[in-house]
Amino acid sequence: MSHIVVIGAGQAGSSLVAKLRNSGFDGEVTLIGAESAPPYQRPPLSKAYLLGDMELERLYLRPESFYSDNNITLRLGTHVDAIDTNAREVVIGDERIAYDQLALTTGSVPRLLPASIGGTLQGVYAVRTLDDVDQMAPEFAGGRHVLIIGGGYIGLEAAAVAAKKGLNVTLVEMADRILQRVAAPETSDYFRALHQSHGVDIKEGVGLDRLTGDGRVTGAILSDGTKIQIDFAIVGVGITPGIALAEAAGLDIDNGIKTDTHGRTSDPAIWAAGDCTSFPYRNARIRLESVPNAIDQAEIVARNMMGDDIEYVAKPWFWSDQYDVKLQIAGLNTGYNNVVTRRDGDAASASFWYYQDDMLLAVDAMNDPRGYMIGKRLIEAGKSPDKSIIADTDADLKPLLK
Ligand code: FAD
Repeated sequence: MSHIVVIGAGQAGSSLVAKLRNSGFDGEVTLIGAESAPPYQRPPLSKAYLLGDMELERLYLRPESFYSDNNITLRLGTHVDAIDTNAREVVIGDERIAYDQLALTTGSVPRLLPASIGGTLQGVYAVRTLDDVDQMAPEFAGGRHVLIIGGGYIGLEAAAVAAKKGLNVTLVEMADRILQRVAAPETSDYFRALHQSHGVDIKEGVGLDRLTGDGRVTGAILSDGTKIQIDFAIVGVGITPGIALAEAAGLDIDNGIKTDTHGRTSDPAIWAAGDCTSFPYRNARIRLESVPNAIDQAEIVARNMMGDDIEYVAKPWFWSDQYDVKLQIAGLNTGYNNVVTRRDGDAASASFWYYQDDMLLAVDAMNDPRGYMIGKRLIEAGKSPDKSIIADTDADLKPLLK
């Protein structure tokens, strides 16, 4: 009987094994994960779950019984140490598990601060796992002071939760503006104003020099020399793809585990999906850090592992929740050279449309689900509406879809 082993029991791993069974795969399936919790959703970790608005059970992607009911061996709390590609075995300590086909869904690893600048002091947290968030949750008491390092989506979401819970929040972003890596100045301006209206002290163009404290963090020295007292710190300075196993096994790596359009790595018996991969997209090779990508890619890989021949054509989209604002992003803005604003005055509902010359690439929509939905469909259809129509808030966009 054929045995498929999947390493990484997160969003992609869980979707992959479910798809195998839904599609009728009747061989052996083993899903191995280093974390002790059954596969869960990460997005609420910096949103509703951190706020205390979501029960633990609702985080789980599927009830734990799903795996046994579907004859999937789920091994949690189990770190895979190596892959022996010649023997086709995965190595866990002294144990070896043979596979016919293997899938890597090893996710990402958060960037941490080095110990030399206080990164290992108590009270310094990353926001990647359920354990991280359970450990930091008791720190979120009103009146305390948190320093958030990094003005990307995770840092901003954590700032929103902290501000809502009545903490004093300072956020430092080394780049000239928050969200610089991922969004246009218009989007940065929108979120800066939103956070400032909730009392968050956003410092842009200011990095962290070092965290201070004896055993536990009590202060920070910023790159402009400012010294502040803090009760704890959250580090949101990005992630790197989880390539360690693949790299040690000799698989090709290119900003992630390199896969072809079908999700196959440079070893024909090994596939990969989710945050850990880079894959062909239009004329480039990209890596996406998002739930929709993890699910869609994993499901295609499952089908291809069963012998189908399906290309993965990514349809990038993403979301973020901060205070009462829902941001929805369609497309990828890489290469944009102009941005069209669709907004009535300074209304909270707004959308920013990224163009490369006259080609529509992406849309950031804030509390504008209609703008998002239309933008997404236009981008997927390869249609680029005239900018004057987008900018005209009286114009109905729906006819553009025809
Ligand atoms: P993961 O879900 O990270 O799963 C990988 C798993 O592999 C981990 O459990 C890891 O422990 C395990 N693993 C790694 N190496 C080994 C090994 N050697 N042995 C055993 N197990 C191993 N995306 C959105 O689209 N929208 C959002 O709003 C959003 N918000 C987010 C908020 C937070 C706080 C975080 C952390 C992420 C957020 N994301 C969001 C990103 C999204 O969660 C990820 O893109 C998604 O989880 C990727 O799924 P994955 O399966 O590739 O990786």
